[in-house]
Amino acid sequence: MKASLAALERRVVACARCPELRAYCSEIGRIKKREYREQRYWAQPVPAFGDPRARLLIVGLAPGAHGSNRTGRPFTGDASGIWLYRTLHRAGYSDRAESRGRDDGLRLRDALITAAIRCAPPGNKPTPEQLRRCSGYLDLELSLLPELCVVLGLGAIGTRAAVDALRRAGYRFERPPKFAHGMEAVARDPAARTAIALIASYHPSRQNTNTGVLTETIFDAIFARIKVLMDRQVGRGPGLR
Ligand code: SF4
Repeated sequence: MKASLAALERRVVACARCPELRAYCSEIGRIKKREYREQRYWAQPVPAFGDPRARLLIVGLAPGAHGSNRTGRPFTGDASGIWLYRTLHRAGYSDRAESRGRDDGLRLRDALITAAIRCAPPGNKPTPEQLRRCSGYLDLELSLLPELCVVLGLGAIGTRAAVDALRRAGYRFERPPKFAHGMEAVARDPAARTAIALIASYHPSRQNTNTGVLTETIFDAIFARIKVLMDRQVGRGPGLR
């Protein structure tokens, strides 16, 4: 990662703004799940992961208690991550189909993965106050991606976080975006004459993938659409339409 994103990563990892979440994540890392009892849990805030020149920003919900909170990389170590990285690999954004941990050498091309909140919340349900406290990191990530074209929100909370961050960055929507799978909106910054496309998808959680709400075909279609949006050059810079 380039210097500024690397500096942000250090800030995120050291963050202690939510003492209740820090205590919860540490406790999860101490107790552990039986199948991971030999492993050392990351048990710290989980920073974004990916390409600092990314044109695609993916915003998920939160680290899983025994997934990212264990491995330290977004969407790594649980069923959601298996789905996401496989899909990213098929779409050409990841050089591998499986993310195993922070030191596995996997590289993302043209995509950065982040989340609405960086510490695992109990029951995977962050409070509005916790989301608000963590939102500044998403703002900084948006500002540190000079090539950004498309933001993909995963699930209602990830999409809401993306919409709010774009608004705080000065972007405006023609209509208030409401979460639905496949929902698209263009965020425009009239002052800077730039635009960013927002697209929403069902979250690849077990709840959605096990029930057939989200299939590989449906998820692949979202990434195919992202490619179309990128080809239209909606994004920061001279490609505004
Ligand atoms: S959830 Fe976000 S703001 Fe709260 S401690 Fe973790 S990194 Fe910091």
